[in-house]
Amino acid sequence: MQDHRSVRPWRMIDRRLSRKIRVGSVEVGGDAPISVQSMTNTLTSDANATIGQIRELEEAGADIVRVSCPDEDSTAAFKTIARAAKVPLVADIHFHYKRGIEAAKAGAACLRINPGNIGSKSRVAEVVQAARDYGCSMRIGVNAGSLEPYLLEKYGEPCPEAMVESALFHADILRDLDFHEFKISVKASDPFLTVAAYQQLAEAIDCPLHLGVTEAGPTRSGTVKSSIGLGSMLWAGIGDTIRVSLAADPVEEIKVGFDILKSLGLRHRGVNIIACPSCARQGFNVIETVGRLEERLAHISTPLSLSIIGCVVNGPGEALMTDVGFTGGGAGKGTGMVYLAGKVDHKLGGQDMVEHIAELVEARAAVIEAERAAEPTPVSALATETALAHVVAA
Ligand code: SF4
Repeated sequence: MQDHRSVRPWRMIDRRLSRKIRVGSVEVGGDAPISVQSMTNTLTSDANATIGQIRELEEAGADIVRVSCPDEDSTAAFKTIARAAKVPLVADIHFHYKRGIEAAKAGAACLRINPGNIGSKSRVAEVVQAARDYGCSMRIGVNAGSLEPYLLEKYGEPCPEAMVESALFHADILRDLDFHEFKISVKASDPFLTVAAYQQLAEAIDCPLHLGVTEAGPTRSGTVKSSIGLGSMLWAGIGDTIRVSLAADPVEEIKVGFDILKSLGLRHRGVNIIACPSCARQGFNVIETVGRLEERLAHISTPLSLSIIGCVVNGPGEALMTDVGFTGGGAGKGTGMVYLAGKVDHKLGGQDMVEHIAELVEARAAVIEAERAAEPTPVSALATETALAHVVAA
């Protein structure tokens, strides 16, 4: 079904045009789709556990996964992990330049490292050389909680200006070495500070930006905080790759990341369920039905829309704009109307409602996939998604 964003200019987002870099097979910046990342929280030295978690993240749709490399055991295991991973990996390095070199050799697609924190110029040059030799990009990651002491002294407290100055300080070190394959993040746990820092950084440099509100908190409040922070930046066209930081299963971070992008029409992955909150008019149990459908349809990655609406007050209108729609027929009746591609199709009631709707969605997904397969040269899953997403790149 045609996405009505394409004909409604007030739904369009003009993305800041950043320089494009690569994180392994994934393009970041420019007109590339906004990628979604998370980070493993297993011990990296436990390769099997880490590979297991990367698999879960891949299945949830992660485009890129970050893995901490705090010690030599971790970079040793990184080789096995990188070989097993289907998505590109970012090795998270803090102060040990040797870990950066080891991770580059071990197959990291990107190093998260702040060049100003790893010591002498020659050490930085060695890491940059390793990145060049092994095709790694880099991420400069500025965090309000770990700003350089001289900046805290200069500005008195973490503020957007201090964070941007820190980011540009690290960026200049790489640029002086003629290394330009980097992206930057300027994260804080306070969304005001985060957004202001990214806004200033977006004006100051043309590299891709990795967005995140750091340490956002547990699932519910962290999701809200991230949605406000990341959502307002993405809406303003800022951001090329995102990570939602939750004190929760990393898979949740991927789900929330996609939901933020889906809400803004920037990426379309999986079933976008539109559901009413339900009230006394509901013709069936909306909340239970939606919960069961969400679980039942989690395996679908094809972008499509499903409306589950309790009654005819809003149901037919929503169904007009979705691939599959179901609208309750009246209080307590337990039956309703199924809509396909916006048109009334058939009545439905009874125990198998969830399964029946799920099968309709699966059938619609199969049709979309068949159409997609018939299209000329689908370059990659990400590129196909770009074609499906109505994103306006400036
Ligand atoms: S669509 Fe109907 S059931 Fe759902 S909240 Fe609105 S009035 Fe209530």
